[in-house]
Amino acid sequence: MPFCKKLIDILKKTRTYLGLAGAASLSLASSSYNTSTAAAAMTDNNKNHRTHVCIIGSGPAAHTAAIYAARAELKPILFEGWMANDIAPGGQLTTTTDVENFPGFPKGIMGGQLMDNCRSQSLRFGTQIFTETVTDVDFSSSPFKVLTDSRSVEADTVIVATGAVAKRLNFPGSCDGKGGFWNKGISACAVCDGAAPIFRNKPLAVIGGGDSAMEEANFLTKYGSKVYIIHRRDEFRASKIMQNRTLSNPKIEVLWNSSAVEAYGEETKNVLGGLKIKNAVTGEVSDLKVSGLFFAIGHEPATKFLNGKLELDSDGYIATKPGTTHTSIAGVFAAGDVQDKKYRQAITAAGTGCMAALDAEHYLQEIMGAQDGKTNE
Ligand code: FAD
Ligand code: NDP
Repeated sequence: MPFCKKLIDILKKTRTYLGLAGAASLSLASSSYNTSTAAAAMTDNNKNHRTHVCIIGSGPAAHTAAIYAARAELKPILFEGWMANDIAPGGQLTTTTDVENFPGFPKGIMGGQLMDNCRSQSLRFGTQIFTETVTDVDFSSSPFKVLTDSRSVEADTVIVATGAVAKRLNFPGSCDGKGGFWNKGISACAVCDGAAPIFRNKPLAVIGGGDSAMEEANFLTKYGSKVYIIHRRDEFRASKIMQNRTLSNPKIEVLWNSSAVEAYGEETKNVLGGLKIKNAVTGEVSDLKVSGLFFAIGHEPATKFLNGKLELDSDGYIATKPGTTHTSIAGVFAAGDVQDKKYRQAITAAGTGCMAALDAEHYLQEIMGAQDGKTNE
């Protein structure tokens, strides 16, 4: 079992033994994310709840939805998950350090701190937060049901904001923790991390052959001295236009039929120094000196717990009506990376979180108006 996975499993087991009091300290990177109020909520003996809005998720989309719904006095209940998809409550930003492109923080802000702020803002307006992972939903009739291992919520509307996970490769040196260069030169988000000083005017590498890899490689040429694309086959699956743009960029070189088998660096400096690359055709292993490596091998949206109860697109993302957060079920809305395979940024997630809360509010007004109409008949 790869080291990262092993560590997460140990943390999960530890949590079972220690109880939720240990939650705050277990986020994977630099997070200062604080789950103390949720832990208090967990002692609530009432395991069945009724609400206008139930929000599933804990990233920028979920908390923005919560802030809007709570300010609209809809008394939202939010499930922030417990190591759902191996990510701490607070979502993907808890796995990174400085966030420099979220407006309002001219000096940047640590990802964990940003999410802690978002959570505090949700609580301030009365959101009830549970540190539990949603395991099943029932959208077959209204009110909808949202279930965890120990709790059940009936809700007039549900906002799904469970995010996505960037896929990572596991090979020696690719992990976080001791001996690994994750977050020390290895990343899964060029747009987020590419401008960091450690990558400036240095050779960089991207793994993947899809549109993301093309986009990330082109983006990185703004900062790196040269960008290698390491691809396991002899052709890209990316769209023709993206391929052409990439192959005509003089700063990009493609290593076809290749895969990274090891990442190494200077232990003392703790930064990536290069990769061992294996050619699938010749079997030869060569050395590639790079200061940055970016995985662009796809994302996995967190939709398994929906058990097929919402329409997904061919890549597993929740299908939404263009320009809205409406899903295939009236009254169920989706926001953030779980429905966005293109932009995948904190600010776009927050934007769609706001849209989902407003869409939910309008939906509630409509059904309540309809119910009032019936009563008056
Ligand atoms: P996510 O942040 O994906 O959070 C969703 C969370 O919901 C999950 O992590 C989990 O905790 C919870 N959850 C999942 N399933 C369940 C369930 N069944 N029940 C309950 N809870 C559940 N973007 C930027 O704009 N700037 C950056 O600098 C930046 N840096 C990044 C660095 C890294 C290393 C990564 C991986 C991403 C970065 N991003 C950055 C992208 C950004 O983090 C995402 O676009 C954003 O977090 C998506 O927000 P979201 O609300 O959709 O959900
Ligand atoms: P894709 O699934 O399209 O591509 C993933 C790439 O990673 C493939 O080339 C695949 O190789 C490679 N890969 C997967 N697993 C491994 C592995 N274990 N080792 C090495 N390589 C691996 O994901 P994308 O994120 O690129 O795109 C997802 C969707 O989002 C697509 O529909 C895409 O069109 C869209 N998108 C559109 C953009 C735009 O229009 N500008 C920008 C970004 C994404 P192989 O080809 O051999 O399977």
